[in-house]
Amino acid sequence: MNAFQQEPANPFDRAEHKNVIPRLELINICKSYNSLKANHQIHLTVQPGAIHAILGENGAGKSTLMKIIYGATRADEGQVIWNGKEVNIDSPSAARKLGIGMVYQHFSLFETLTVAENILLGLDEKVDLKQLHERIVAVSEQYGLRVDPRREVFSLSVGERQRVEIIRCLLQNPSLIILDEPTSVLTPQAVKQLFKTLKLLASQGVSILYISHKLHEIKELCDEATILRNGLVTGHVYPKDQSTSDLARLMIGRDLPTYQHVDFSGQKQQLFSVDDLNYESEDPFGVSLKHIQLDLYGGEILGIAGISGNGQAELLSLLSGEQVSAKGSIVFQGVDISLQSAGLRRDQGLGFVPEERLGRGAVPNMTLSQNGLLTAFRKELSDWGLINFTKMRAFAEQCIEKFGVKASGADAEARSLSGGNLQKFIVGREILQNPKVLIVSQPTWGVDVGAAMFIRQTLIDLSRQGVAILVISEELEELFEISDRICVLAAGQLSKPMKTTDTNAEQIGLLMSGIANTTNSTEISLNQAHA
Ligand code: ADP
Repeated sequence: MNAFQQEPANPFDRAEHKNVIPRLELINICKSYNSLKANHQIHLTVQPGAIHAILGENGAGKSTLMKIIYGATRADEGQVIWNGKEVNIDSPSAARKLGIGMVYQHFSLFETLTVAENILLGLDEKVDLKQLHERIVAVSEQYGLRVDPRREVFSLSVGERQRVEIIRCLLQNPSLIILDEPTSVLTPQAVKQLFKTLKLLASQGVSILYISHKLHEIKELCDEATILRNGLVTGHVYPKDQSTSDLARLMIGRDLPTYQHVDFSGQKQQLFSVDDLNYESEDPFGVSLKHIQLDLYGGEILGIAGISGNGQAELLSLLSGEQVSAKGSIVFQGVDISLQSAGLRRDQGLGFVPEERLGRGAVPNMTLSQNGLLTAFRKELSDWGLINFTKMRAFAEQCIEKFGVKASGADAEARSLSGGNLQKFIVGREILQNPKVLIVSQPTWGVDVGAAMFIRQTLIDLSRQGVAILVISEELEELFEISDRICVLAAGQLSKPMKTTDTNAEQIGLLMSGIANTTNSTEISLNQAHA
């Protein structure tokens, strides 16, 4: 039995650590970007073998601090002490030499190369590919990170890709590993497996810096947490002693509001349905859709769970009209719209919020007024085919005010807004056009807790006014929070919707990996074996 198969003992002991030399100590770290203090007088102590969370909303300064530790950015002031000695970390390779490894949120793997080739490219030392294969197999077995070094990366699931990144990091024998939002795209089963690996590493003395805004994960996994707000440390706590609402208060500076779900009092009418929709993707990395069946009722939210890359982009483009398919039907208020253009669909009251905010949801270098015009011009903002500039500006101003968008005004460029504020603007723009059906992809991706709660509550309220809402999301927690029914899109197939109250995250997680891997042989058995 290797160590991964045993339940790792957690060696972290608060009293014991008082007398130990810290693995990493940051003293008075300051970093400004022009007048903005991204990090101000930060003190942080990470003990050997501790899993230490860095908790904070978007813009709190977490990534800046991690970049300083990993040598990707230089602090303006302050000291970095590594195992009791002051060090100058001026590059990522200097950090790796000291024993600091980093696993990024967005993977940096080449799709068409194998696992071993990708790992080889990321190593600082020169190694022979055959030897590397053996080392990968040894590390992956030791830490329950099973992945075949000969597989090409494009054929791997997201969970497997993350394992490749972690193996690459472990091959450098780090004594501190930084993980940036590692669970945002994992199934619940893969999250459990990751936590087991991290606890095992910690039990062997490796320190982990774990960046996240998921409070229950921090409570479950982390021994300590340092909380950042507006570039400052606002607290240091032992998360296991705290409730999630205590942690939230430290993070956002006030209590988290709770969601208000009222029952829909009107008659549930079917407004939208998809029948046996099929689509052959021409893109070699695209996903074909098979026999998609769904219906949407006014007054409810239907959630589609699943990991991006399983047909989500293709389904959204067929529903919005950016792509059309003659195989199957899409019916909106009794009319088959499957061959209609996106504009025609919008005219009839079908609203869309795409996944990618900058580029598809909004044009970065256009003002908010102009961005409002992009989807609302036919309905609200033009007279006899000519743009009405007064109405255009008023529309953007209304959106800014009603949806609490923090921006300098209607003339602010979209790219000047933070992710959460731009997302509020894009969702608001669609809602102000009074859609009958609203289709939203990843409504709160990368959006901080406060803005995410606002967007989710707005969607719940809109549905209770009789609008039918479809939400495609990778965040299971979000879907359980807002959906009345839930189904899973995996490998281009949609499962049968279930009432959210009749299912749970485990069951949905199994569907996510189960169907997803009918074409991908190893994942389901591994997930089940290590769950
Ligand atoms: P977090 O990781 O907690 O979301 P960041 O460290 O990314 O926060 O950002 C902290 C603040 O610093 C934000 O206001 C962000 O806009 C700003 N910032 C980060 N990097 C840069 C940069 N390279 N140039 C200008 N401002 C930056």
